[in-house]
Amino acid sequence: MAKPVRVVILGGLGGVGRNCMAIEHDDRILLIDCGQMFPSGGGDITKVYLPDFTWLRQNRERLDGIVLTHGHEDHLGAIPYLLRDMSLTIYGSEFTLALLKNKVTNANIGQRATLVKVSDGERRRIGPFDVEFIPVTHSMPQTFAVALHTPQGVVLHSGDFKIDLSPVDERRTDLARLGSLASNEGIRLLMLDSTNAEEPGYSQSESHIGKTLRSMFVEHRSQRITVTAFASHIHRIQQIADAAVGEGRLVVPLGRTMMNNIRMARNLGLLRINEQDLAEQEAIEDCRPDEVCIIATGSQGESQSVLAQLARGSDRWFTVGPEDTIIYSSDTIPGNESSVNEVVEGLLRQGAKIVHNGIADVHATGHAQEGELRTYISLTEPEYLVPIHGEYRMLHANARNAMAMGMPEHKVLLSRDGDILEISDDGIVRVGDVPSQMVSIRVGG
Ligand SMILES: [Zn+2]
Ligand SMILES: [Zn+2]
Repeated sequence: MAKPVRVVILGGLGGVGRNCMAIEHDDRILLIDCGQMFPSGGGDITKVYLPDFTWLRQNRERLDGIVLTHGHEDHLGAIPYLLRDMSLTIYGSEFTLALLKNKVTNANIGQRATLVKVSDGERRRIGPFDVEFIPVTHSMPQTFAVALHTPQGVVLHSGDFKIDLSPVDERRTDLARLGSLASNEGIRLLMLDSTNAEEPGYSQSESHIGKTLRSMFVEHRSQRITVTAFASHIHRIQQIADAAVGEGRLVVPLGRTMMNNIRMARNLGLLRINEQDLAEQEAIEDCRPDEVCIIATGSQGESQSVLAQLARGSDRWFTVGPEDTIIYSSDTIPGNESSVNEVVEGLLRQGAKIVHNGIADVHATGHAQEGELRTYISLTEPEYLVPIHGEYRMLHANARNAMAMGMPEHKVLLSRDGDILEISDDGIVRVGDVPSQMVSIRVGG
């Protein structure tokens, strides 16, 4: 009889965000991700939601650390708050840790975090845990799936991922490794990203977006072009910069997070833009409209972003007029629609042209759709499946999909925040729960 292993779900099931999962083995605990959730309604950045840390506080002596799949806020945003209660060792890729370091330094809590860099394919011991970091493609560089080699078999956490066979950085989801894990050791439990489980087919390749962007630059040749995208989407920023430079434009990053992330990604060798192709804000006034491409924050209608200020007619950056084309290379996160609309209306009123995903393919998702989830399941052949990351209907779609592929109903565990699942020789069952309230906290408070 091998000792049982437990999975304690602290967040991320039943709502988009605050992803946080604990694994218990040999009386020790390892956390996978520790994210926050933004309240719907977009513009309101005065509060965020966190996982309920009650159980972690009670068990802090047993916690060996946190492994991070990647650097999105819904996977690491709650760490500065957890650090108020305890010191932590945190494992992640170089890019993920660079983003985290910014956050903990800003929160003045950096001394409590020990950051340990891990590389693609690395396998290491953390306390009694045998942890493997498997490369996956996502809307951010250096994202991982995490495989835990336990006495109860391999527990595989998919992270956020898509299966893109022509990603911008050629770093593909490591299907070969997933397949070899399945055929050699076997996957006992797969925890699988559900974000896009309701979307049929396959996600668009990121490199396709680069082609569309280039054609947009040709079509709007005489215009001043401003593109907005997520500031952490370094692959997208690369393609925007390539399109701009290819058409003879200077790249002008605007907005604090955009400027910081571009600098950081260039320093890490993740973003290739030549120094002579980059310019500061002054270039916007000094150059003709067709000589610059601005990359700006504000794709979600955030009230302090560059786009929101432009929409309000502020002349802090430049004044928007009929010579401007503004490309939304992003989608709108559910809940942010009204703030985004308000910004778009403001820009249109000043005479700008707007290009968005409904008009041309200027955005691709970073999450696997139904076809990719099926590929992943047939490759990993898990004995048990727990759908993670998403609202209940998304988890449900992921579960339905797996059962349609022949997984027996009692091996597809539709779980919720707070559930304790026990993996033993007899199978996997829910054995209890821990507190899992939505904890709301005022930002800066
Ligand atoms: Zn993500
Ligand atoms: Zn996520």
